Amino acid sequence: MAGFSTRKGLLMYIVAEKEIAGLMTPAAAFEAIEAVFAAMAARKAYNFPVVREAIGYEDALYGFKGGFDGAALTLGLKAGGYWPNNQKHNLINHQSTIFLFDADTGRAKAAIGGNLLTALRTAAASAVSIKYLAPKGAKVLGMIGAGHQSAFQMKAAAAVHSFEKVIGWNPHPEMLTRLAETAAGLGLPFEAVELDRLGAEADVIISITSAFSPLLMDAHVKGETHIAAMGTDTKGKQELDPALVARARIFTDEVAQSISIGETQHAIAAHLIAEEAVHELGAVVTGAIPGRDGAEVTLFDGTGVGLQDLAVAAKVLELAIEKGLAQQAEL
Ligand code: NAD
Repeated sequence: MAGFSTRKGLLMYIVAEKEIAGLMTPAAAFEAIEAVFAAMAARKAYNFPVVREAIGYEDALYGFKGGFDGAALTLGLKAGGYWPNNQKHNLINHQSTIFLFDADTGRAKAAIGGNLLTALRTAAASAVSIKYLAPKGAKVLGMIGAGHQSAFQMKAAAAVHSFEKVIGWNPHPEMLTRLAETAAGLGLPFEAVELDRLGAEADVIISITSAFSPLLMDAHVKGETHIAAMGTDTKGKQELDPALVARARIFTDEVAQSISIGETQHAIAAHLIAEEAVHELGAVVTGAIPGRDGAEVTLFDGTGVGLQDLAVAAKVLELAIEKGLAQQAEL
């Protein structure tokens, strides 16, 4: 990196979690994720094996997701996990930090708050799938899930496609106010509906719940539809009927994750589809394979890869340096 000499070479940047909201925009996150999916499909970027451990203390799940993007020269990892008892410390349960390393020397380059970036990169992934896979003239966005991530998902989807209406369903109906308020903020009408209406009326569906059994059934989904299934990121989790998965033309961020911890794990286990049916979304971005290709239903199985974290972190570091908001510390 230019200017990284002697004493400077011993410095690393820190971008505080509190600065991320003012620095990162959904549009910048979208660009970073679109580019890294393309680099993955072109085999210029790859993810390292994921480590995720129940550490036997505070019921915490801790782990690392890392990778190397040889096109952007982004190297590093996200470390963190889930601490279910964090309320007593006045902290949110998901905690993560992204570390970037200089690809030329291996020196630590930056530590960046990863909490908000995780939501932005996850929402950007489904937005990329909507850009490339939404049926022509899609008007109605259907939201399944009303937790923390759902608002980010809706905003990113609305930034990439002009929807006329949002409909939503959540297993805990008292949480639906989050969807109503987010839609209102986007100037879109919102209606709470049952899942059969959601599947029949929505042109694009985002599911982002912690479900462990199917919510959206094959019989619910009618007509040309794109589904971004974003909640299933662990073995055993499930949001969709495997028959619906099998009916769809399937895309994912990374095939190995999709079939092991993503939504397709169940259709694979039931022998309804083979691994070959699962395509990389990045290959649609590069133009190597077609998108909808006449399919009635398309599915993006978003499992969340380390390279997504690194991509948005690299962008936020660039913006923070530009705006003088990156602290420097000697290491
Ligand atoms: P949250 O805890 O804020 O909200 C949870 C959502 O799931 C709510 O809609 C809730 O009503 C619903 N829910 C809770 N228990 C359920 C159950 N047993 N069955 C069905 N629904 C249930 O969580 P969040 O931060 O919004 O995250 C939602 C999901 O997204 C989680 O599963 C999380 O692991 C996943 N996630 C995925 C990625 C990715 O890259 N794919 C990234 C971040 C989070």
